[in-house]
This record gives sequence, structure tokens and C-alpha cells, in this order.
Amino acid sequence: MKKRIYRILEFFKNILFPPKCVFCEKIIEPNQRNRVCGDCGGEIEFCSDLVCCEKCGKPIVGFGEKRICYFCLNHSPKYFDRIVSAFIYDKIAKRAVVRYKTKGLSGHCEVFSTCLAARIFEEYPDIKFDFLCGVLPHNKNTDFDQVQLLCKKLSSKLDLLYRNDLFAQTRKTSKQSGLNFKQRLENLKESIEVKERETVEGKTILLIDDVCTTRATIIEYSRALKKAGAKRVYAATVATVRNNEK
Ligand SMILES: [Zn+2]
Ligand SMILES: [Zn+2]
Repeated sequence: MKKRIYRILEFFKNILFPPKCVFCEKIIEPNQRNRVCGDCGGEIEFCSDLVCCEKCGKPIVGFGEKRICYFCLNHSPKYFDRIVSAFIYDKIAKRAVVRYKTKGLSGHCEVFSTCLAARIFEEYPDIKFDFLCGVLPHNKNTDFDQVQLLCKKLSSKLDLLYRNDLFAQTRKTSKQSGLNFKQRLENLKESIEVKERETVEGKTILLIDDVCTTRATIIEYSRALKKAGAKRVYAATVATVRNNEK
């Protein structure tokens, strides 16, 4: 009986709120579990189809024996061990991530976390993480914490403990948008600390963020984790901006 009521409710829900592709918002088959339409599936640039830097996970074009991007060669970014991302932050993918951030759509998060979990399995297959954690909310003007929701979904998909409430902000920072790598790094410098050292000491940690732009956020959080004694910090972000700085 319960099942029947559920099916009837689902039927009406699908009529009133037909499921849409999370990337282009086109209406898709109600039973399609993966909420991505065929067109978008072909248009999204998934990092697993590209040659990516072994350090920061951004796609590279010309590469030698070592798959390291110009940026990582020139700057040797410290603290984090690696970053991997699910797809490129561009066009429809960018629009979908922005919609997720601003509207707090959990259907989007379901798709993003599935893509990211697959990428983590693919790139970090042999790493035994002690737990995962996420960066603090970027936008303090809304109640919706997009990284926290992502972490919760990833925690169940990866069967990995999620440690919330790990970080504290030690000082005010300016808005990151519009700043280049050096300015972002300077803006965030020593602005994050780990609340309890015992939680991270000697641990191998998976650090989550939604978008990797210049890597500055990952660098600052990894610095805080390593300072508190973390053994390894591997980062994973849903999307990554293409390399634009040498
Ligand atoms: Zn679509
Ligand atoms: Zn790199």
C-alpha cells in the first residue's frame, strides 16, 4: 500500500516538477537516475578525458615525460599533495555550478558528488583516507553551505567519515573574485586554522571544495592542516578553471 501511494505521489511530482538536466535544464525522462541529458553529457569536459597535471589536476596541453603544468613547474605549490577535479569550469558546467551555489539545488549536488566520487576512485585508488573535510562557506551572506552538502553526499558515496567543524577563520579576508593567484594567496595567507590538532595529527585527509580557481584556497587549507600535523592532504574539487597563469 505504502509503495503504491509513493508511486502515485512520484507520478504527480513528475508532472508538476518534471526532472530537468542539471546542466541545461531541459526536461528529461522521469526515470533517468543520472540527471544529465545526452547533449550535455557530450559537451561537458570531464577531466578523466583530458591529460591533467599530476600535481594540481588542471588540464595541460604540451607536456613532457612528467605531466606537470607550467604553473606547478614555476611555483612548486606547497602543502597539498595533489588536487583532482571532476570537470572543467566552463560554459554549461559553469552555469550549473553557479545555479547550485546560488539556489542550493540538491539535485545538482547529487550529480556533482557522483561525478566527483568517480574521479576520486579513479585518481586516488590506493589512498587510505582517514576522513574528508570541506573548506568553510565562501559566501557568508546565505545560509546554504554548498561545500558542506557536497561533503555529506561524498561521505556516503565514498563510505568515508566526514569531519565537519574542523576549521576556524582567524581574520577577515576580502572577496577573492577579481584577484590573481598572488593576490589571492596573500589575501588568504594564514587566515585559516585547525581547531583541534589531535583530530588531524598524522592523518591522511581528503579536502573538498566546489571549484578550484587559482589553487590559493586549497593551498591555505592544506597549510593549516599540515601545520596542525596532517601527514597528507589530497584535495578534490567538482570543477576546475583552466590554467590561465604561468
Ligand atoms: Zn542538458
Ligand atoms: Zn599543475
